[in-house]
Amino acid sequence: MGRSADEVATRSERGDERDRMVERQLAGRGVDDARVLEAMRRVPRHLFVPEGVADRAYDDTPLPIGQKQTISQPYIVAAMIALLELPDGARVLEIGTGSGYAAAVCAELAAEVYTVERNAVLAERARQTLEASGYEGVHLRVGDGTRGWSEAAPFDGIMVAAGGPRVPGSLREQLRVGGRMVIPVGEDLRVQRLMVVTRTHVDAWREEDMGAVRFVPLVGEEGFAPESAG
Ligand code: SAH
Repeated sequence: MGRSADEVATRSERGDERDRMVERQLAGRGVDDARVLEAMRRVPRHLFVPEGVADRAYDDTPLPIGQKQTISQPYIVAAMIALLELPDGARVLEIGTGSGYAAAVCAELAAEVYTVERNAVLAERARQTLEASGYEGVHLRVGDGTRGWSEAAPFDGIMVAAGGPRVPGSLREQLRVGGRMVIPVGEDLRVQRLMVVTRTHVDAWREEDMGAVRFVPLVGEEGFAPESAG
């Protein structure tokens, strides 16, 4: 049975599970940005995961979304978006659309959301999900997100949902002065440091290390080579 015909009706379903997710997994673990918590309460995460794992959509875990990729654990999505400290009317760039879920959460908080996915199969599925769940305003394109989206720059926030060996220079340059980027960085393919990069002046960036994280590889010109990432 296809679910797309029911999707509009099901957008508001499972609200109790989302409230519990927000209380236990997010607020209970220190995410205290009220706007982020409200956004996480609103986005129907169960519509963004494959039907086979939809019953686990509100569990405290990443889930497979096909193409060897995953939708991040709710906590890490909320924590990363909170770290962006988005101003009102923000322009946001996300690299690694995956299921489209994090882009939808950003769309609850920002004026404009741009998202780039290198895998065309995932991008097409995300496009359909975003449209069917009321987030048709998100700008999505297929390509190498390590080069950013220069025509839409500068951004107040850049969220990178895959781990690269270093912070891509293109992304640094596409931050507005005062803007913040959250990105997992590390030479090791299995573990990274979650870095917050703030553009403090036209030619200066501050980096803060928020701790160890585990993301799928960022593959591209300013990321890992496709062969090294497997
Ligand atoms: N934010 C997603 C989770 C993404 S998983 C969600 O909410 O579901 C990371 C994604 O980054 C994968 O889909 C992978 O294909 C993609 N990716 C890896 N390198 C990329 C690059 N250089 N540009 C764009 N997408 C990339």
